[in-house]
Amino acid sequence: MRIGIIGAGQLGRMLALAGYPLGLRFTFLDPNPDACGAQVGECIVGAYDDPAKLRELADNVDVLSFEFENVPVETLTAITRRRPMYPPVTALAASQDRLTEKTLFRKLGIPTPDFHAVDSLEDLQAAVAELGAPGILKTRRLGYDGRGQYRIRTVSDVIPAWQQLGGVPLIYEAFVPFTREVSIIGARSSKGETAIYPLTENTHQNGVLHLSKAPYKNAKLQTQAEKYLKKLFRHFDYAGVLTIEFFVLRGQLIANEMAPRVHNSGHWTIEGAETSQFENHVRAICGLPLGSTAVRGHAAMLNFVGQIPEQAAALKQTGLHLHHYGKEARPGRKLGHATIVADTIQTRDRSVKKMLTLLTKARSR
Ligand code: AMP
Repeated sequence: MRIGIIGAGQLGRMLALAGYPLGLRFTFLDPNPDACGAQVGECIVGAYDDPAKLRELADNVDVLSFEFENVPVETLTAITRRRPMYPPVTALAASQDRLTEKTLFRKLGIPTPDFHAVDSLEDLQAAVAELGAPGILKTRRLGYDGRGQYRIRTVSDVIPAWQQLGGVPLIYEAFVPFTREVSIIGARSSKGETAIYPLTENTHQNGVLHLSKAPYKNAKLQTQAEKYLKKLFRHFDYAGVLTIEFFVLRGQLIANEMAPRVHNSGHWTIEGAETSQFENHVRAICGLPLGSTAVRGHAAMLNFVGQIPEQAAALKQTGLHLHHYGKEARPGRKLGHATIVADTIQTRDRSVKKMLTLLTKARSR
């Protein structure tokens, strides 16, 4: 079976690496011939919205998927007539617009921060009057990793925020004074089987994921998160991996956003779970039985953003696994990650500390 993936970034690359042992084959579509997925699979070079290139991809594979959200929905819908596309394009469309996404969460009874659509300065003033400050003004579309956001601390920030972001559809969200951020990742196969991982606890730096630790053990929150994920699975008649990111506030989950794909906060599953999120995604979209999501210990994942720590020093640590994405180093770019798996939380956290020291050294090089 051959899988066509729109986008040949690190997620596509890790999907292919997980699929090869199952005898699956991969073709990517990416505008960049040097995209890191192209190092491990065939790549059709072309724009994501080029109908001819999308047709070429569809005609060469059995099933289609995508590895990032900013693919134009209209062009994708057109090729789903040629080949099945998982996850469904309806889930992609919902995740592309923060207003649609949060409106859907509300409709399905998934708690989300209070929000207000903003299309003018007057809307923003009304939103801040209604929801109060602090809050976050975000672009509805094309925002990720904290980009396209302005934190409004007091009413005096309204004009500068509007000057910076105004002109495109926006959303104002009440600020959630969360105690931690967690994510739930699960797969649903095209046959309806589900497999859900334990919660992951996430720490961000400048809006970008820095460190994930799993399992985050909290039976009540795990049950809540699984319930919300299953509501979305049912709503979209979903197939593939789906992620929801939450804030934890006063022992409750508040959904920030969803991603209809494998997620950075699930990279620990490569070594830290019986079956990785990447393998479960390809199994799910090929209609194969899903693999166990049981953990293999206490895992952590550290992102390498902008710099890669010294390899030999990192590899000296027991239980540590390096993943380089084969990308050229550039400030702010996700270049790789390390996973640490240990028998105890204490051993894992000691290894994380050592790795953080190596990362700091790499940053000061
Ligand atoms: P996002 O791009 O929506 O994932 O936001 C990036 C990060 O900004 C989140 O992981 C949070 O740390 C923070 N953030 C976003 N929205 C809110 C909010 N409504 N309240 C508090 N923090 C937020």
